[in-house]
Amino acid sequence: MSVTTLIATPAIIEKMEKFYADYFVKTPAHARFQAKIPGCTITAYHSNKVVFQGGSASKEAETWQAFTQPKSPTPVKKVKKAPIHFDQFDCIGCDESGVGDYFGPVTAACIYIPKHDIPSLQTLGITDSKKMTDDRICEIAPQLMKQFPYAITILPNPKYNQLQAQGINGHMMKALLHNQALTKLFQEHDLHYDYIIMDQFVNEQAYYRYFSRLQVEPIRGLTFLEKAESQSVAVAAASVLARYTYVKAMEKLASTLGRPLPKGASKAVDRFAAQLITEQGLDCLDTYAKQHFVTTQKAIDLAKS
Ligand code: MG
Repeated sequence: MSVTTLIATPAIIEKMEKFYADYFVKTPAHARFQAKIPGCTITAYHSNKVVFQGGSASKEAETWQAFTQPKSPTPVKKVKKAPIHFDQFDCIGCDESGVGDYFGPVTAACIYIPKHDIPSLQTLGITDSKKMTDDRICEIAPQLMKQFPYAITILPNPKYNQLQAQGINGHMMKALLHNQALTKLFQEHDLHYDYIIMDQFVNEQAYYRYFSRLQVEPIRGLTFLEKAESQSVAVAAASVLARYTYVKAMEKLASTLGRPLPKGASKAVDRFAAQLITEQGLDCLDTYAKQHFVTTQKAIDLAKS
């Protein structure tokens, strides 16, 4: 008679007990149970030993063997994703401007660039707008706007300050602006694209969380990339449009004020703001500036001194 013995865990013995319940016979001494099935008697002991006896003992034991062997951990393969060469696809690029500038609005732009136009844009020298002069941006942006489907959104300072006061932070505002631009783009154009690429300012989860907090249904299926303008000409082109829109908005503000306002955030900006406060009072900053910047306090202090 063939005999096969297994050492099982209490949990597996419990499973066996349920499994063979209909075949129980009188329990021998020291055993937990004994079952007889055609071709095999199974005896489980309190010591966790299980003995299979009979013609089909080894076959019966085999079915339990798999449970008793410690599972070898599944090897975690580190799958390195092959980089996607976004410039080989039809892409919509998204980027914004004016975020770090005390004066002027925040602008967002998206633009659709089909893959066959990418080489010509690379020849034009379209790259991250931060690496281009405003003059060059103002030359190139109108060409892009003529040639490709695009959409732009602007958040003027009074609205920015109002949202900020309502607890909507800069990232949320950017997300809203981008979503508005994309919505506009899709309303006006029927586009067949492979990727919508967002120059990443927050990760994907946070981006979509903003919308659920604001109870807005966003456009989905975006690809978030860090330093996206160096990986996608479409994003570089969007950065050019966003900056162009910012520069033009600053020209408009300059004509309202009667003189140009400085871009960025610096000591010169602090002094300019201080002078504005002296001339027109603190309230005028709502029209021209992102009031929650520390620049405001610095300017107030400067204006007093
Ligand atoms: Mg960016």
